[in-house]
Amino acid sequence: DLSGHVAVVTGSTSGIGLGIARSLAQAGAKVALNSHLGREEDYKIAADLAEETGSEVIYVQADMSNGEACVKLVETAAEKLGTVDILVNNAGIQYVAPVEDFPVSKWDAIMAINLSSAFHTIRAAVPGMKEKKWGRIINIASAHGLTASPYKSAYVSAKHGLVGLTKTIALELAECGGTCNAICPGYVLTPLVEGQIPDQMKAHNMSREDVIKNVMLERQPTKDFVTVEQMGTFAVFLASEAGSQITGAALPADGGWTAM
Ligand code: NAD
Repeated sequence: DLSGHVAVVTGSTSGIGLGIARSLAQAGAKVALNSHLGREEDYKIAADLAEETGSEVIYVQADMSNGEACVKLVETAAEKLGTVDILVNNAGIQYVAPVEDFPVSKWDAIMAINLSSAFHTIRAAVPGMKEKKWGRIINIASAHGLTASPYKSAYVSAKHGLVGLTKTIALELAECGGTCNAICPGYVLTPLVEGQIPDQMKAHNMSREDVIKNVMLERQPTKDFVTVEQMGTFAVFLASEAGSQITGAALPADGGWTAM
């Protein structure tokens, strides 16, 4: 039961972030959703989630590529909901290109959104957690925080960096009632991934099942996607009493990818 707790989930108007926000709200936490977009539908997603779960859910527009905006997100959530004691750093983008062709602007954006934003939000949230003597920081890394693939230099570097940040913060919070862990998902079935299936079916002239097994989940031994619901349940577990001695870990949820 997470009632009495206040969560911020960065990049949470779709996919994994929204799945985690939903599970946290279902468990009773007050939740601040976030994206950089500020669309009308983003506010509606928050209102709908509040109605669905009975928890207080707000939407805060803030661009995680900007350090000051990251701090503002934590401050705004604290003003409106109370001291932030559950922080989920989930916002992330991807770009794929050989290193010699990799646009410098994409490298900078991926470093800012996938890695530096977590530094800025953690830096802003830790004083409140120390004061409460309770805190949970969950960083959404990736199987690519533990292994590499070609053409993903920025993403793999940022996710490995996020795992290093996770271990460091865990040590700093160890005697303060706070934990910090990274979840390292394999391929998760988000709306974004779902949308790629029809194109891949056409491109490879394959059935949906064959595209999923042989193209998308080539490196995922279970040949099953991770679900956003599983990500949500995992995050709630880490935030619960049962998770209080799990800290500094990079925890795979990848259908066996990193066992290979
Ligand atoms: P998604 O694209 O469905 O959702 C990303 C969210 O981040 C959206 O709400 C988007 O609006 C928001 N966002 C993007 N740029 C932002 C910015 N500058 N500031 C604030 N918000 C921003 O992605 P997803 O698949 O749910 O991925 C979420 C996280 O999980 C990412 O960090 C990703 O690297 C990681 N991940 C995803 C998978 C997967 O298979 N989907 C696997 C491993 C790790």
